[in-house]
Amino acid sequence: MHQHWERSGGATTGTTGLAYHPASLEHDTGPMHPERPERIRAVLSLLDRSGLRQELAAVPVRDAEDAWLTQVHTPQYVAEVTAASRLAIGHPVYLGHETPVSAGSAGAARKAAGAVLAAADRVMAGELKNAFCLVRPPGHHAVADHAMGFCVFNNVAVGARYLQRRHGVGRVLIVDWDVHHGNGTQAAFWTDPTVFYFSVHQYPFYPGSGAADERGAGAGEGTTLNAPLPAGSDDKAYLDLFERVLVPAAEGFGPDFVLVSAGFDAHRAEFLGDMRLTEDGFARLTGVVKGLADRLCGGRLVSVLEGGYDLDALAGSVAAHLAALKGS
Ligand code: ZN
Repeated sequence: MHQHWERSGGATTGTTGLAYHPASLEHDTGPMHPERPERIRAVLSLLDRSGLRQELAAVPVRDAEDAWLTQVHTPQYVAEVTAASRLAIGHPVYLGHETPVSAGSAGAARKAAGAVLAAADRVMAGELKNAFCLVRPPGHHAVADHAMGFCVFNNVAVGARYLQRRHGVGRVLIVDWDVHHGNGTQAAFWTDPTVFYFSVHQYPFYPGSGAADERGAGAGEGTTLNAPLPAGSDDKAYLDLFERVLVPAAEGFGPDFVLVSAGFDAHRAEFLGDMRLTEDGFARLTGVVKGLADRLCGGRLVSVLEGGYDLDALAGSVAAHLAALKGS
């Protein structure tokens, strides 16, 4: 179905969900790794202390089934993740040189993708206006057949395919504001005109892709939109870009659902990036994207944690993001 969602012209009302599962803490990357369980704990601690958590609806999280993981990943790779995790008793096994896995990693990765599926179900049922998935490992660097850049399964890409094939959603817009380019998500939808991938990221930077002339191919030419920004870009640079580039592109595309690859490593305190965003900047970017969802697809939006490694910056930015999603 390609429904014509009601265009109310104003903000939609409803509840914002939080999809979190303690399995995300069982992905042990070792003592020196920036992508660590403390990231999740720092966010939960602030949400609890601020009272924000009790204003959100808890979304029960399930495992992503193989049938959905393999919409994006090869069956061999899904089996490899499970096998690596089984071997990692007492010592890490590396899925690529940046992504160590532990005994709990396969379970965490399945719950990370499953959180997106569960949140999508609740939003599609109209039980939630939107939702944020507080998950790890992150996803946007993961490609069809291998892990990369701390990412195991591409949670957002699996979510987009699930929305289309489980819920009959026609067109999905993915907005990726992680400081790094989401090479895995771009690859997943490179030739697909039904999924629009927009990424703003520091460039040149890891992983090397994301130049402005990478626009998709074949039927998907033009539904990949890369907006590289130089190191040092601030709130104003991002907001100008969103208003000038993302808003018209999204309006032209006409999404039925919006997914956000919400990395917070473009924060000015971040040690794995060189951008200058603040908590307020993330709140305002959220406002722009939420406004698009409200105008274009009945507010339907699921946001998914990607990067963000300075614990205080991450927690504060997620709180600002959630407050903006919730609306007040
Ligand atoms: Zn990142």
